[in-house]
Amino acid sequence: MPARLINGNELSKQIRSDIAQRAAELTRQGTRPGLAVILVGEDPASHVYVRNKVKACHDAGFHSVLEKYEATMTEAELLARIDLLNHDPAIHGILVQMPLPRHIDPHKVIEAISTRKDVDGYSVLSAGELMAGLDGFRPCTPYGCMKLIESTGYDLRGKHAVVIGRSNTVGKPMALLLLQANATVTVCHSGTPDLAYHTRQADVVVAAVGRRNTLTGDMVKPGAVVIDVGINRDDAGKLCGDVDFASVSEVAGWITPVPGGVGPMTITMLLANTLESAERVAGRG
Ligand code: NAP
Repeated sequence: MPARLINGNELSKQIRSDIAQRAAELTRQGTRPGLAVILVGEDPASHVYVRNKVKACHDAGFHSVLEKYEATMTEAELLARIDLLNHDPAIHGILVQMPLPRHIDPHKVIEAISTRKDVDGYSVLSAGELMAGLDGFRPCTPYGCMKLIESTGYDLRGKHAVVIGRSNTVGKPMALLLLQANATVTVCHSGTPDLAYHTRQADVVVAAVGRRNTLTGDMVKPGAVVIDVGINRDDAGKLCGDVDFASVSEVAGWITPVPGGVGPMTITMLLANTLESAERVAGRG
């Protein structure tokens, strides 16, 4: 039987509708959730990403601020801007769109964002909170993957999850979230000699590599849950993930498509984190 589809667009819609309701309620009580998005430079993809984030804020009834700066902005100027936003009571989340121009140190910038407003969950403190099982902001993409798995009703307790990829923004936090959900977790990377050996034993596979056809049907255990984080292009220029959808969907129990799987969930969880931040400020978190 072919795998059931985990529809990220549908789940995203449901979660965003709940977020909009909670935001309206909070606004009525005097705290309107607010997100500031900073874009430095002219990267065309970044312009699209920030536009989508600001639109999502608008649709959810959030206050949003989009600050666009020339690529010549200095690191000191950017840090000063972040400092002002850290102290702005109308702003509950700050996001600096990556990549930054080469003369600006992204680590310095991320660490300059107040942990209370680090809704991307990228700072060292947020990462530490996640590792310690404390209540920090979870990075949006892995947080969205967890919601997608939850939406199937699949119980992760005692299951074997394999994460392919170990980046600080996706693979590592994904592994920690799966661990928190009591899965037994294996993390694979470019130095893993026999990837298929690991994935064939997995009840859940999360692929976050950035290389198409990394996971094919012969590498998957029958009935497994497969989450595809990758964003790639095939030979025809069509968007595709890391997973060979055709062959894997013949074997897996559940699978996310690309597009329409993890992608829409990332912005949704950014809204969720911003709302949570505003609720904390209002004393409801
Ligand atoms: P990244 O920083 O480049 O990390 C890729 C990871 O894959 C690295 O840990 C790398 O291992 C590992 N890897 C590379 N080749 C491998 C192989 N042959 N076998 C096993 N592991 C291998 O990328 P990222 O930021 O985590 O993103 C991963 C993918 O997800 C990209 O396609 C990105 O565009 C996509 N993404 C999507 C969303 C979304 O919203 N849908 C959000 C974020 C990212 P090493 O550590 O050993 O180099």
